[in-house]
Amino acid sequence: MSLKFEIRTAANPTAEKDRAAKLENPGFGRVFSDHMAIVRYRQGEGWHSARIESRANFPLDPAGAVLHYAQEIFEGLKAYKRDDGGVNLFRPDANAKRFQSSAERMAMALLPEDVFIEAVEQLVRIDRAWIPGGEGSLYLRPFMIASEVFLGVKPSAEYIFSVIASPVGSYFKGGPAPVSIWVSENYTRAAIGGTGAVKCGGNYAASLRAQAEAIDHGCDQVVFLDAVERRYIEELGGMNIFFVFEDGSLITPPLGTILPGITRDSIIALLRDSGTVVREEPYTIDQWRKDAASGRLKEAFACGTAAVISPIGKVCSASGDFVISGGAAGPVAMGLRKTLVDIQYGRTNDPHNWIRKVF
Ligand SMILES: *Cc1c(COP(=O)(O)O)cnc(C)c1O
Repeated sequence: MSLKFEIRTAANPTAEKDRAAKLENPGFGRVFSDHMAIVRYRQGEGWHSARIESRANFPLDPAGAVLHYAQEIFEGLKAYKRDDGGVNLFRPDANAKRFQSSAERMAMALLPEDVFIEAVEQLVRIDRAWIPGGEGSLYLRPFMIASEVFLGVKPSAEYIFSVIASPVGSYFKGGPAPVSIWVSENYTRAAIGGTGAVKCGGNYAASLRAQAEAIDHGCDQVVFLDAVERRYIEELGGMNIFFVFEDGSLITPPLGTILPGITRDSIIALLRDSGTVVREEPYTIDQWRKDAASGRLKEAFACGTAAVISPIGKVCSASGDFVISGGAAGPVAMGLRKTLVDIQYGRTNDPHNWIRKVF
């Protein structure tokens, strides 16, 4: 299926000097571009009214299904400016596929992959001037909400798919600073058969209390344990996790209840390209503590689109803290980060064909 997007250029776009001021130091997720993509769905009619238009409020009835039953999913990817002035997207097809599997689990309408990619590309084209240079990028947020007006528990018959864009600076100024993480023993993120593998807002709502607990304990991020035995490491609130061992091998928790990160998948592929052993297998918090103490564990890092790779310097829990790689960023995390970022910005070759050039 293919939909033709009607392009309605914003009547009052941001003045060039105001945009330049905003791009100076955009931070993360607070500055937005001038346009958005929007596509609507109605049962029986399918996807229709595909448009690029001025970024504006949605009219949403107070009985709109998303407001009561939380049928909502989202994605996150970035557009990167190359040195030659062109623009890259990184694996947008993987985001489109994951968006479909999220929709399926949440009993929402399936958006064709080509419509997802077209919406993202059209938005990047029209708001190209919003892509920061240097280590910045344009963060793209595709999402879908249930918009049918009713109170009652059943899948909505109407949906709004939209994409918005937010210029973001380099996540870490002056290189990634190691993060400290808090092991959540009071809360879990996902159970088998639940929505752990789905990129839905509800998972985040449920994680905020645990994240607040991490902050209360002086940590940057929370790490969740499995919901059954409460000892296997799953992932952070919004990032997957890897462990690096003395013998050069790595472990990352297996898919199932964790979010299947595209960064995680890319890192596994890059490691295997270089002949490095990566095992997708369960790893317990007790083992982590032991391996950090014995020196068998050399590094741990978290990964996701927003921050790419965050080295983990310290782990805190109710039963005590421990430090990893002396609290500093390790060479494996930093090397992988450089390779990934170089691919994303088109500075090195792209053996897996991950880059899609918009310009
Ligand atoms: C989005 C997300 C990730 C990272 O996925 P990427 O595709 O690498 O950005 C990890 N965990 C959770 C819970 C997420 O929502």
